[in-house]
Order: sequence, then structure tokens, then C-alpha cells
Amino acid sequence: MDLSELTTLRVGGPATELLAPPSPAELVETTLGVWATGDDWLVLGGGSNVVVADDGFDGSVIRVTTRGIERLESAPGAVLLKVQAGEPWDGVVAHAVDRGWAGIEALSGIPGSSGAAPIQNIGAYGQELASSLEAIEFLDYLSGELRRMPAEELELGYRTSALKRGRRGLVVSIELRLTGNADAMSAPVSYPQLATALGVGLGDRLPLSEVRGAVLALRAAKGMLLDATDPDSVSAGSFFTNPIVSTEFARGLPVDAPRWPVEPNEGEPVVSPLEIFRPENLPAPPAAVDRGVKLSAAWLIEHSGITRGFRLPGSRAAVSSKHTLALVNTGGATAAEIGELARYLQTRVLGAFGVILQPEPLLVGVDV
Ligand SMILES: Cc1cc2nc3c(=O)[nH]c(=O)nc-3n(C[C@H](O)[C@H](O)[C@H](O)COP(=O)(O)OP(=O)(O)OC[C@H]3O[C@@H](n4cnc5c(N)ncnc54)[C@H](O)[C@@H]3O)c2cc1C
Repeated sequence: MDLSELTTLRVGGPATELLAPPSPAELVETTLGVWATGDDWLVLGGGSNVVVADDGFDGSVIRVTTRGIERLESAPGAVLLKVQAGEPWDGVVAHAVDRGWAGIEALSGIPGSSGAAPIQNIGAYGQELASSLEAIEFLDYLSGELRRMPAEELELGYRTSALKRGRRGLVVSIELRLTGNADAMSAPVSYPQLATALGVGLGDRLPLSEVRGAVLALRAAKGMLLDATDPDSVSAGSFFTNPIVSTEFARGLPVDAPRWPVEPNEGEPVVSPLEIFRPENLPAPPAAVDRGVKLSAAWLIEHSGITRGFRLPGSRAAVSSKHTLALVNTGGATAAEIGELARYLQTRVLGAFGVILQPEPLLVGVDV
């Protein structure tokens, strides 16, 4: 079977071996078995954030299909859930919203599996997994050990984690900490576009189901909901992350370029020079930390002259007609065509603004 059948962008050739262990115990056993061979391996959930090369993957693909949502004991008011890695993420959100548990409602409609959610710390409409993730059950490639890893160890940041940055292993399950409240109200709405859609102010709370409904509608309008009837949803979601640049660099950009301050957990960690700890240097002046500025990748692409629906001559890969940040397979596109379009957009943005866009999905044998 070609991996194009298991990925939402519908590109990618076959893997040498394709495994789909049915239970958590078999998932662990199979994965350890694959690791023991020394062959290359790849964990695949819903395939919504990967781009696989046309000649496929020379190794074992372990598909995670294990299901289950279990409520664990917790303090009153808190709801602790253990979710198996293969459980579809949006089903978990629906489960929580139906029961009046708040914390992940703005993450409604994100495709893929729960086990992949921590990899890039999924986020949308002002919420991120980081604020609800308690721990993961992790099979560590380096030690072969299966253990509960607290979320702090994952160093979750803007669309990143220690796992995305190269710590290899398998997420077997995740633990979420949600808030139970009798009136089933959401967390405060913190995203202007969502607040506008709901007709409320920032910081307001609303019934969970209303927030979920509004998020799903906003996502559908952007082709960001997997929908067999929407050709713009044949994508890997946002193809590029929003770049983080220094404040000084951002000052040189056009005044209308959107920019946001970088939150403490988003940018690179700030390292103090050792000198600061010398007695003569104490007390250190409380210098303001410049964490940089986050730019809008969609704005940069649009203002480099690329319009929605853009495609290179003869190519079946295109920029989504609803959202400049998604690259779509309009039918029969190859991974090479997707890569070619992605590189073209990068070149345009680099030429216009001096910013190198970084791809968000995992690229398997594809050069961008
Ligand atoms: C239409 C669309 C909209 C999207 N919108 C958003 C959005 O709003 N916000 C957002 O953050 N993302 C979004 N995405 C990206 C994607 O949905 C998320 O990254 C999702 O978490 C990927 O899940 P998956 O199971 O499909 O992972 P896959 O694509 O199968 O894998 C992604 C990565 O995770 C690894 N991985 C998967 N499962 C495991 C596991 N159990 N253990 C270890 N590693 C694992 C893979 O090896 C790979 O590196 C969107 C994608 C699409 C197609």
C-alpha cells in the first residue's frame, strides 16, 4: 500500500513494511521489535502532518491505531483523562465538550491522532495542547524504557517539543487535565477572530458547545477541516510555521506586517552570561528580555505576490484557494510537485522580506 493512502496530502510511495498493532501492549512489543532490527522506522498516526517522498520510505512504518479514553481519579473540579495514542484527537475534544469539561474546546477539528498532538504541541484559536497536557506514556528509543513523562520534560513551545526537535520514541498514551464545571462553560476566549465570530469580548466564557461550533465553522471556511467534499482540505494543514525574528529585524518590515510578541515558552531559551553571577555584577539589572517577534507566514506569502489558488505551470500542487498557508494536492500531485511549490514560496518570501519560512510537517525524503 502506498503511504499516499494514509496521509491527508495524499502523496507518498510504499514503505518496506507497514505494521498496525491492535493493542497498546502489542504496539510497544512491535515497536521494540522493529527497533531491535536496526532498520529505519517511522511512527504514523493520522498522516495529517507528514509529506512522504514519491519513492516511499525504506523502513518500517508503525501505524498507531490503539483506541480508548479512560477517566482517572483526580481532585474535585479537575478531570484527568488517559487517552490512547490512536484515538482521533477531535473525538477526544467532542467527548470533553459533551461532558462539560473545558480546556481543549478551541482545538476542535484539528485532524490526526491524540498521540501526535504533543509532537508539535497542536494549537489553534488561542489554545494549545500545552495548557492541558499533564503527561505522556513514552517508549524511549534510546533506553527502550516505557515510562510516564511529565509534560514539563517535553519542552513544549510554539508548534514544537523535544520530540519534534529530535528526541525519538513512541507516544503510547497521553494524559489530559481538563476543568469540570457545572455550567459547561469554556475557558476564556483569547483569540480575536473567534471572539468576533462569537460576538463576545476577549476573556469572555461561553457554553463549550458554542465555542466548538464556532471553531468548526471558522475552520471549514478556511479548508482546515478534513472534509471529503472540500478539495482545499487535501493538505497537511499549515505548510509553514509563523517565523520568529528579532525585534530589530521586524522593525525593518513594512508597518502593516502583522507581528506578535513571543510568549516565554515560544522562542529559544534565553541564556544569561556567566558573568552575571560574579558578586561584583550583582544585583544584575533586570534587563527586559527580548524574545523576538512572531510574524504571519500567510501575510508574508501573500505580500510576496502569491495569491490563493496559485500554482506553478503544469503542476497539480497549489496554494489553497481558502488559506495561503496550506498547500493542496488538487488531484494526482506528486510529493516532488508539493516540494517544488513549497521551495518556490520560500524563495519568494526570502526575496521579498529576507525571511526563510520553515516547513511545519515532517518531511520524509522530501527536500524543502
Ligand atoms: C486540514 C488540516 C488542518 C490542520 N490544522 C492544524 C491546527 O490548527 N493546528 C495544529 O497544530 N495542527 C494542525 N494540523 C496538523 C496536524 O493535524 C497535527 O499536527 C496533528 O497532531 C497530526 O496528527 P497525526 O496523527 O495525523 O500525525 P502524523 O501526521 O501521522 O505524524 C506527525 C508527526 O508525529 C509523529 N507521531 C505521530 N504519532 C506519534 C506517536 N504516537 N508517537 C510518536 N510520534 C508520533 C510522526 O512520526 C510525525 O513526526 C492540520 C492538518 C490538516 C491536514
